Amino acid sequence: MRRAIWLVVAGAIATAATWYLAGLPGTVVLRVARYTISAATPVALLATILLLLVLYGVARLVAVLFRLPTAWRNWRAGRNRAVGDLAVTRALVALAAGDGVAARREARRALRALGPTPHSLQLAAEAERLAGNEDAAAALFRQLAEHKDGGFLGLRGLFRQAMARQAWDEAAILLAQAEGKQPGRLWLRDSRLRLAVHQENWAGAAALAEPGQAKTALMIAAAGAASNGNAALQLAKQAWAEDKSQAPAALAYAQALRGAGRERAALDAVRESWKAAPHPDLATFAVAPGIDAAARLKLFTLFVQGLPPHPEAQLALARLSFAAGSLGDATYHLDACGLDDRRVGLLRADLARARGDGEAEKAALRDAASAPAAPAWGCTACGAQTAAWQATCPSCHAAGTLRWG
Ligand SMILES: [Zn+2]
Repeated sequence: MRRAIWLVVAGAIATAATWYLAGLPGTVVLRVARYTISAATPVALLATILLLLVLYGVARLVAVLFRLPTAWRNWRAGRNRAVGDLAVTRALVALAAGDGVAARREARRALRALGPTPHSLQLAAEAERLAGNEDAAAALFRQLAEHKDGGFLGLRGLFRQAMARQAWDEAAILLAQAEGKQPGRLWLRDSRLRLAVHQENWAGAAALAEPGQAKTALMIAAAGAASNGNAALQLAKQAWAEDKSQAPAALAYAQALRGAGRERAALDAVRESWKAAPHPDLATFAVAPGIDAAARLKLFTLFVQGLPPHPEAQLALARLSFAAGSLGDATYHLDACGLDDRRVGLLRADLARARGDGEAEKAALRDAASAPAAPAWGCTACGAQTAAWQATCPSCHAAGTLRWG
């Protein structure tokens, strides 16, 4: 309503002004050089207004023409950004789906549309890697490494390629360069640790690892690789102190003690670990000084004296009794052990053979064939199994992931 009133009022004012101007008396005369133009006042006013409108229109047109290149560039940039953003999304989806060909095509499109920005270069390099073009990926990572803000990403990409090629020295140089760009980052620490493990620089790797099973495993390996007995003893002692339930740590420490002539301390360490987690290798270490089977049986009997009975202790006693010729004791301990894995069946077959009972031997071997496998070292990361303990998994190279079971 108010708007309608205003329109009526404005229309009335415009009509009145027009009426007033149309009724203005007199003549406007314009003399330029020898030319004279004269017109009635309303006509002259109208002509002036028209002239101003034309001049304004021309000025606007000139301004638009001047802005045209910038507007064209902005339009093109906006269009390229839209095309590039869409290509980035499609390339990310293709990378996630493992489609190297599509990822490479879309990443290249993003690179053309957006130019060599850190994220378009990173994406193009990852797509080339997925498509199996390591050289093309390396060229893109090198270009990225030169970038002021994204240089770290380029060095990280080159480092991963160097690790995949097992070019450890090159990887170490790249890590040092990356450290210069992003000092103290967690990724750098983890990467230095992985590199040290691959280079079998156990002491360096142990120093980098966080306290835990990986650190303990790396310290055991460092003790094994130490150049002198005292360093090996200190490292093994540290590893054993970290986790006394780890048989490899106890064995590393006990072997270092035995090497230093401290047999009593070595057996004490092994016995303490046996109490925490009995393991056949600890039993083997404890009976090692025995010169014959009877002496070994005696040593182990003393070793477990006063300790609560344990299936592994009974099985070890059964084996040692069998080796010492005490078939009755061996059978007693084997029955008492309560284990049902392949080791039990095989020992039962040995006992039957020693008694000359062929039928019982065959039955025991059949049982052994269908029994669960003997405990072994298995990797908790990849599931690979290995007979002897190692600091790193022989399959996936993860540190401290081997468990007995
Ligand atoms: Zn593994």
